[in-house]
Amino acid sequence: MPLTLSSPVSVMRGVGEARASALASLGILTVQDLLRHYPRGYQCRGDVRTVAEVTDRIRAGGGEMPVSMLLTVSAEPTYRVIRRGMSVLKFRAFDATGVCEITYFNQSYLRDVFHTGGEFRFFGRATLEGRTLKLSSPIHEPIIPERTLPAIVPVYRLAAGLSQKVLAGLIRDALTSAAAQISETLPTDVMARRGLCTLSYALRSIHAPADADSLLRARRRLVFEEYFSLGLMMAAANAQTNTETSVRMQQIDLAPLLSRLPYELTGAQKRSVLEISADLAAGVRMNRILLGDVGSGKTVVAAAAAYIAAKNGYQCAIMAPTEILATQHARELTPLLESCGIRTVLLTGSLSAAQKRKLHAEIESGADVVIGTHALISAGVTFPRLGLVIEDEQHRFGVAQRAALAEKGEGVHMLTMSATPIPRSLSLVAYGGLAVSRLDEMPPGRQKVDTFVVDESYRDRLYAFIRRQIDDGHQVYIVCPSVEENPESKKKRTEDPEELADFLLTEETDSLSEKPPLKAAVEYAAKLQNEVFPDLTVAFVHGKMKTAEKDRTMRTFAEGEIDVLVSTTVIEVGVNVPNATLMIVENAERFGLAQLHQLRGRVGRGKAKSYCVLVSDAKGETARRRLDVLRKSNDGFAIAEEDLALRGPGEFIGGGGSVRQHGANLLPIPAESGDFALLGEAMDEARALLDTDPTLQMPEHEILREAVDSMREKLTTTLN
Ligand code: ADP
Ligand code: MG
Repeated sequence: MPLTLSSPVSVMRGVGEARASALASLGILTVQDLLRHYPRGYQCRGDVRTVAEVTDRIRAGGGEMPVSMLLTVSAEPTYRVIRRGMSVLKFRAFDATGVCEITYFNQSYLRDVFHTGGEFRFFGRATLEGRTLKLSSPIHEPIIPERTLPAIVPVYRLAAGLSQKVLAGLIRDALTSAAAQISETLPTDVMARRGLCTLSYALRSIHAPADADSLLRARRRLVFEEYFSLGLMMAAANAQTNTETSVRMQQIDLAPLLSRLPYELTGAQKRSVLEISADLAAGVRMNRILLGDVGSGKTVVAAAAAYIAAKNGYQCAIMAPTEILATQHARELTPLLESCGIRTVLLTGSLSAAQKRKLHAEIESGADVVIGTHALISAGVTFPRLGLVIEDEQHRFGVAQRAALAEKGEGVHMLTMSATPIPRSLSLVAYGGLAVSRLDEMPPGRQKVDTFVVDESYRDRLYAFIRRQIDDGHQVYIVCPSVEENPESKKKRTEDPEELADFLLTEETDSLSEKPPLKAAVEYAAKLQNEVFPDLTVAFVHGKMKTAEKDRTMRTFAEGEIDVLVSTTVIEVGVNVPNATLMIVENAERFGLAQLHQLRGRVGRGKAKSYCVLVSDAKGETARRRLDVLRKSNDGFAIAEEDLALRGPGEFIGGGGSVRQHGANLLPIPAESGDFALLGEAMDEARALLDTDPTLQMPEHEILREAVDSMREKLTTTLN
């Protein structure tokens, strides 16, 4: 039976049940999925060197890179079993300039492969021992007269039970038998305008590039296609939410509220409040995001919005991601709103059943503002007059959540607040067509937090510095990555020669070898208390603690009873302790730049000079450069732009990595900074297309509509 694009992989030659399930774990079910499983990188095996050249290069100190050599086996290999479970196959091979000694461990079947006179292309890391050049377990390809060996070889993301060789073979078969059936997804005029190659060419070249140039063309086309579909999807999601509503709120005088504040609003705050108040009056459901760096004063803008709703006779729900934050909001907002005659309640999970019942009754009988966690939405609370929902610190790509909310209340207005600094150029992708208000101006008098990047050798000085801050009456945060958050750390470096390569045309940002071991947060906190600062109060908060316990510790810290607070990233969002002047982040290379920037925002909130120390033993160039960005800049948006340039847009589109962690790859091809310009082009084209065919109903757009649907499905399932 001939293969079609929709054939299940199980009908392919060489795919039994085990392989089929290994493939399924990579999301590969059909022949088409195989073709869409893009390489994660490439080995450049075409640059062949002689034995003499490689020897010279190692002598000159350049032995790190894997090399290709064309060599002839000079004598039959020797095979020895050294001890149980360990065998060695050894032989010499030569070219016109010299001899190389080649060794394989535990691969006895290679005895049938290497014989005197056999010619191979070897690829691996060479070493020099004395005057002898050696290769250990190199990749080998036989040289066959009628076949030229490819210069650029793809490297795929694998699953247990699959090798590079097997997966590459399957993809090759899929290309041979099904490539002719591939139909184009992009409109012809878009391809012509943007100089993009066809899908068929792109899929062939992404897996088997003739040269670097065709690889780049293929990549460009596939990345464009991905962004283009993403743009169409976001626009469609937004079109559904742009609905009329009967919830109209009159613009009202905010002076009674504002006169109770001890400060003037900044220009940016005033502008945002006006934008929101115009939205609330318009008779179209508001779907707005308020973006502002940590400390830019989002809370008071939320207060103004809640005030407008309440004075118009509507209820407002304010949701925070954690109880700590909800409680903090309540502390700040309740007195302010109550003093304006607005009934405000705090609903948290740690209340007793009786207290909850009482609060539910209050909400049903008309409390104006209800503050709580996201549980507010799911907890079966009925809001008789809900008019506005405010969501604080929304980190995630919220398409699915927003849809859930929309079902909660008829025509309810939505305001989302976020401190995650998404670069301006990406806001369309990240927020769809959400209206955006930006707090791009800090309240006056904000100080700059001095930032340092240090390694372990500074440990003693760091402890002395902590002590000095505390002697001066201040408090210190120490943040450690939590082990559970980093499943990557368990992955061992592979010994498989096929995988050795890591020599990728597209450099992987943090290769595993660059990552220093994690500081185990619990033990670390204990050590600090017992050995380093026995006379101080050290406390520990982590994500697995009971909420009440966590809240109690945070409150004690806020009251100044704790000197050093060690935590995993639970303190990341919103917490306000002005007396804390030093933020230390351990294993800083583990955090995203935006996250580090937010952590740093926990200090510098009072009058005293504040500091941030990023501790990292990462040696990798990219890791160092990323941390350096933070040292140099205090501007969240500038940091986001830099991060984008260093990592490419993929991570951002994954909503701070959450999509990626869940295993869906929106952009399977390693993202590059050049993709940025491409993104803009794709968005322009998506908008233009939607102008002519807003719902993609034209027959020529059917394939596109399917692509958009399947992308939405992929996203929604990853989020749920
Ligand atoms: P975030 O945007 O991080 O949520 P907050 O709303 O918590 O920031 O505000 C941070 C601090 O700045 C608060 O202590 C708040 O009272 C103060 N603040 C907000 N707006 C102003 C302003 N216009 N002038 C002075 N201080 C302000
Ligand atoms: Mg806040």
